[in-house]
Amino acid sequence: MLDGEITPMSNQPSQCDAVIIGAGHNGLTCAAYLAAAGLKVIVLERRGVVGGAAVTEEFHPGFRNSVAAYTVSLLNPKIIRDLELARFGLRVIERRLSNFLPTADGRYLCTGVGRTASEVAKFSHNDAQRLDEYGARLDRVADVLRELVLQTPPNVVRGDWRSALPQLLQAARVGGRLRRLDLTMQRELLRLFATSAGDYLDGWFESDPIKAVYGFDGIVGNYASPYTPGSAYVLLHHVFGETNGKKGVWGHAIGGMGAITQAMAKAASARGVDIRVRSPVREIVIERGRACGAVIEGGDTIRARAVISNLNPKLLYQQMIPAGALAAEFRERVAQWRCGSGTFRMNVALSELPDFRCLPGKRLADHHTAGIILAPTLKYMEQAYFDARMGGWSRQPIVEMLIPSTLDDSLAPPGQHVASLFCQHVAPLLPGGESWDAHRNHVADLKIDTVNEHAPNFKAAVLGRQIMSPLDLERTFGLIGGDIFHGALQLDQLFSARPMLGYADYRGPIPGLYLCGSGTHPGGGVTGAPGHNSAREIIADFRRRRVPALRT
Ligand SMILES: Cc1cc2nc3c(=O)[nH]c(=O)nc-3n(C[C@H](O)[C@H](O)[C@H](O)COP(=O)(O)OP(=O)(O)OC[C@H]3O[C@@H](n4cnc5c(N)ncnc54)[C@H](O)[C@@H]3O)c2cc1C
Repeated sequence: MLDGEITPMSNQPSQCDAVIIGAGHNGLTCAAYLAAAGLKVIVLERRGVVGGAAVTEEFHPGFRNSVAAYTVSLLNPKIIRDLELARFGLRVIERRLSNFLPTADGRYLCTGVGRTASEVAKFSHNDAQRLDEYGARLDRVADVLRELVLQTPPNVVRGDWRSALPQLLQAARVGGRLRRLDLTMQRELLRLFATSAGDYLDGWFESDPIKAVYGFDGIVGNYASPYTPGSAYVLLHHVFGETNGKKGVWGHAIGGMGAITQAMAKAASARGVDIRVRSPVREIVIERGRACGAVIEGGDTIRARAVISNLNPKLLYQQMIPAGALAAEFRERVAQWRCGSGTFRMNVALSELPDFRCLPGKRLADHHTAGIILAPTLKYMEQAYFDARMGGWSRQPIVEMLIPSTLDDSLAPPGQHVASLFCQHVAPLLPGGESWDAHRNHVADLKIDTVNEHAPNFKAAVLGRQIMSPLDLERTFGLIGGDIFHGALQLDQLFSARPMLGYADYRGPIPGLYLCGSGTHPGGGVTGAPGHNSAREIIADFRRRRVPALRT
């Protein structure tokens, strides 16, 4: 059922309580919670495999990898527990080192539990002494965000006191959480929301390598200079997770990111969810002003009491719903939704491990298991952004490389490896209207050359490669503009404004329509939180009898 032939629709039920469009990890999470509450759920997925951007696929004969999302930390522990993901096969392990960053002068910085301070001291004793305080402050602010992740944001509503009161109470609850921070921490929070990652880090540290390691988090999925105001929030977004109870630590799911979504699909199926792959939805059925079903390409219709979208809001509102069903002002806002994270993703099959100039050796060592950041300074990252803005990409690109086969022997043949190249700062749309199809190979060569400059055996070790330009990400996964988060994580697109003021409670502007994807709070990343939160709201509507019975 998860990745196979589909039974003809005529043999399958065509009615349910809730139809979910998209089997990304949020769609699956939402489905599992709804089914646990007793609803009959059908999930329709366009691709032949579930998981959306969190999938493991064979990209070269004998070599499998997490082909899009590649590392785990943000997946919420409550969701792991509630869905019993461990029982359904999920096992997450820690890397031996967090990050490894070769520097421009031939040295390197390694970070990781018990290692960071002594490594940073190679570049600055002052910085090494400030690490603990920096970590503690960031962690206290991240704790507040952790508490908000599974909350429905206060929704800005018009109308009488009955609709406004619950939102006011919700706002008061959020305010109460923030007030628990002392004044120093409230100032820190404000700084993190308003300032740039670069300015924030310059305020803490003096040496480039540690600023680059931390600052990289501020530009992941964020097509902006590390000195763009607001980028400090993106940095924060990447530290609110945990691995096996260790806060801020990133890990690896054995079997790749697909192991997460396969476990979710099994959890959902065990609760009775009907997941149908190769079922691309063409449009949402709207009757008498209410969403009441989904039409699959080819013509079959699933009728449902609630229609739930796991899609980027732009994809949902611009392609799945007739324009006439939405107010002009609403459509205008959707058109302004900013998508385009500037991401270029490659998977490579390797005959051997990279042999770094600054830390020689092809035998597996701790640094091979780390997130390897090839971008030595914040200035370098800023220049890469400027270059991309002007010409589409930089000749000195930002590359993060992860080699998951160093931790997981299920991905590559013995002695060989797979690497994820996660490259940031290419233009989502190329200048002059040029197509990414004309340039993807050249840009991919540039990424390989960049790794090769640091590890001269790399290019010759490449046995096969998979390239995903922003256009490929859009075509393959439905990620509009190649945006890995379904929309930029910037202040005007966060919390009560995600995806839009007035619609932050996972309900769309059409009765019966709900959203459960990364375009809702708390945004992108493999968190499961939007799916969890939307399920709570949908279940509440069913219990309050706000969802009418099916018309037949
Ligand atoms: C290259 C890349 C690297 C990333 N790296 C990381 C990382 O390392 N760690 C991390 O935590 N996050 C990472 N992310 C972000 C994270 O993967 C996403 O934010 C998250 O997976 C989105 O989940 P979702 O369920 O909201 O949506 P999606 O995963 O986008 O799922 C949406 C689903 O809807 C389906 N769909 C689309 N159109 C239709 C249709 N018409 N009919 C039916 N189905 C349809 C799609 O095929 C897809 O399965 C990365 C993302 C990308 C793209």
